[in-house]
Amino acid sequence: MLSDTDGGVQARAETPEPASAGEPPVLEAVDVTMHFTVRGGLGRATTVKALEHASLQLRRGRIVALVGESGSGKTTLARLFALVYTPTSGEIRLRGERVLPGRGRASREYYSEVQMVFQDPFASLNSMHSVRHNLKRALRIHGRAGRDDIEERMLELLERVSLTPTKDFMGKLPHELSGGQRQRVAIARALAVGPKVILGDEPISMLDVSMRLDILNLLARLREEEDLALLYITHDIASARYLAEEIHVMYAGQMVEGGPTEQIIQNPQHPYTRLLLGASPDPARTVKAGAASVFADVEDSGEPPNLAAPPQGCRFHPRCPLATDECRTSFPARTEHATGQWVHCWLYPPGAST
Ligand code: SF4
Repeated sequence: MLSDTDGGVQARAETPEPASAGEPPVLEAVDVTMHFTVRGGLGRATTVKALEHASLQLRRGRIVALVGESGSGKTTLARLFALVYTPTSGEIRLRGERVLPGRGRASREYYSEVQMVFQDPFASLNSMHSVRHNLKRALRIHGRAGRDDIEERMLELLERVSLTPTKDFMGKLPHELSGGQRQRVAIARALAVGPKVILGDEPISMLDVSMRLDILNLLARLREEEDLALLYITHDIASARYLAEEIHVMYAGQMVEGGPTEQIIQNPQHPYTRLLLGASPDPARTVKAGAASVFADVEDSGEPPNLAAPPQGCRFHPRCPLATDECRTSFPARTEHATGQWVHCWLYPPGAST
């Protein structure tokens, strides 16, 4: 299982490959693109190209991390999975069946399988009501408890997220809890519906550093106990390494690299992945010679591009010291390696080995 570290989230004990590794995904994004039309001054419409041709598969018992800075498209992809948006093109599939945003019973059925845990637990809970109310509502809406056993179900949920003694927490209002306790309540509420998938959108980024590791460990334990498929969205590649079996890296709406976690950490290929790792030093990492040093003497003063007018080709090219003319005109195809790692970068043409 997971081990504690010296205050950071650097390394992760080896976790056996889940039995589901070769199974069909529970939830998947298939080549999804999301463009938003935004009306500016004088009513002029602008298209924001937030996400381009992204594919991602979530399997039971497996944690997948989606890593990137603000504006990378990772939250847009999570919201597509949560059916907040309808993709401009491509599909979201639950057990192989296409799903679209809806209302009523179809929507309830979807959310009884797919739940989201948000960055700010205070905003995600009803602040006017107690923990009891927040949990009871979720159980009732999804028919997960009757009048006779609802109290027992709520106490069980608090036990599962280690809020004990459980009875002490039932009557508390969100503002009477610490940030970590509030996030535990939000996770308990997500579990109330018996989900198969949890989408965690930066679930630790607003918590005190001292509580972050506890929440990561809780998510890891629940994944094992509940056999959950878990999407962990973060800007912090170190916490992704700690928690996830797979890491997928996004930049400016494009998926740029992905694969088994240790493969990505030890042998990052895309210059943006190297930049992320360079900003997150880890003495335990033994990156292959030259791999992380690409950016060692490059001051990264670049900013992510404006997605209303993104750069052509590889969107990272204005910040990339290795960019060529080819990079500025066309986005590279995906190169797959036998290790399971893949990358979109002209430095690694199809057939390149890791
Ligand atoms: Fe850099 Fe070109 Fe690779 Fe993009 S495709 S990361 S610009 S080398």
